[in-house]
Amino acid sequence: MNINELKAWEIAEGLRNKDFSCEEITKKYIDRIKEVDKDINAYITVTEQAALENAKKVDEKFNNREEVSDIAGVPISIKDNISVKNIKMTCASKMLENYISPYDAALVEKIKANDGIILGKVNLDEFAMGQSTKTSYFGITKNPLDLTRVSGGSSGGSAASVSSGEACISIGTDTGGSVRQPSGFCGVVGVKPTYGSISRYGVASMANTFDQPGVVAKDVRDAITMLNVLEGKDNRDATSVGNPGLKYDFDYSKDLEENLKGIKFAIPSAFLDMDLDKDVKSEFGKAIKILKSNGAIVEAYDIDSLKYVIETYNILVNGEISSNMARFDSIRFGHRTKKDFDSIEDMYKKSRGEGFGNEVKRRIMIGTHILSLDFADEYYNKALEVRGLIKKNMDDLFKSYDFMICPTTPCLPLKIENEMSLTEIYQSDLFTIPANMIGSPSISLPMPIGENGLSVGIEFTGKRFKDRDLLKTALGFERSLQR
Ligand code: GLN
Repeated sequence: MNINELKAWEIAEGLRNKDFSCEEITKKYIDRIKEVDKDINAYITVTEQAALENAKKVDEKFNNREEVSDIAGVPISIKDNISVKNIKMTCASKMLENYISPYDAALVEKIKANDGIILGKVNLDEFAMGQSTKTSYFGITKNPLDLTRVSGGSSGGSAASVSSGEACISIGTDTGGSVRQPSGFCGVVGVKPTYGSISRYGVASMANTFDQPGVVAKDVRDAITMLNVLEGKDNRDATSVGNPGLKYDFDYSKDLEENLKGIKFAIPSAFLDMDLDKDVKSEFGKAIKILKSNGAIVEAYDIDSLKYVIETYNILVNGEISSNMARFDSIRFGHRTKKDFDSIEDMYKKSRGEGFGNEVKRRIMIGTHILSLDFADEYYNKALEVRGLIKKNMDDLFKSYDFMICPTTPCLPLKIENEMSLTEIYQSDLFTIPANMIGSPSISLPMPIGENGLSVGIEFTGKRFKDRDLLKTALGFERSLQR
């Protein structure tokens, strides 16, 4: 038995049966990080001592036969834009290189209260802006399935840490696909629940009407277990709604393929015309065949407004980014220049100029431009209207279909040295963004390709608050792949 390959529910079983102790598991994970992370670079901060101390406390609870949560003793990594009290939170930026968070994010409070073992903070694109971790101040996270390729992003550290056995579960954030895209690239499961289901209190905002924390796990059952812990209303986040699905209580011993019978999937026709990588295309074809052979219905569906997703997303998100990034002024938060300055404005300029990387600067500038008085109507307000239109069209889709289905990304993870143009980079988020645009739950499920050891993500997106149905169907699909 390789402990680093166990699923969280297998760890829970093993702990209950005393097959191993929590301390043993935690040590195995720490050893694994020490062994492989110099090559992968998933972690920015490892909290070895705290993890081992907490593991001992969890062992005591098991020894005293106390009632414990399903994630008690499970090793977890946290994306480094989520606050963990007294631990550095860098957002992968020089701006916050030395920032120590004074409090726990709401979701971290829940993990701690449920005895999850936090192993440390993992890498991301700077302030979650990107899709490869190439924009991280701390260097790229490599893909554990093939070290010459990117892990994806922005939650590349989350996906890579789970894929490499350096964490059993990871928490990421998803603004335009950042949980699902790297999960697809690294061969693991990534879930973004309905907007508002997991509190954003203590999570650094990128674009707050899009941001939602999500879960990276080895299988759907583990993701569900974690969502059960994290979801719920929180008064400290005004957009928090909790989840009307309440606790998920699936029976995993049942014939889960049955869950696919009669389920209706729509493939947006606009996506069918796209240039897909040949492996992505063939795996997606296989996925559709599997779904159909289990009684699901898969059809093409015209939804014209999806053509405008990328432009709309970038206008709105950059607008929100420019105002969210304004708080990093080197007075309350952030890097302060060591150079001389002759006015407060000069100090802002020098500090922000040194503290932010190019991608963040680009987005602040575009966002500021489109929000300016002369352009707001032409760009920002128009984009808001298009967002409304996309939402309306997607609501119509969900009147006739249960889910939208597509590959998580049009391509395989790129070779690290491969430089794409900015338009190509932004374009590659086409399949993941719609869910954020409308606040829908969405999941990426891995289809292993075989020979080259890589994996293709298959994405299901459902109606807002229909997370339970989405997870149930995902369980069915996952089981049917195992046959
Ligand atoms: N890749 C997308 C972007 O760069 C999404 C990022 C995210 O979800 N945080 O905007």
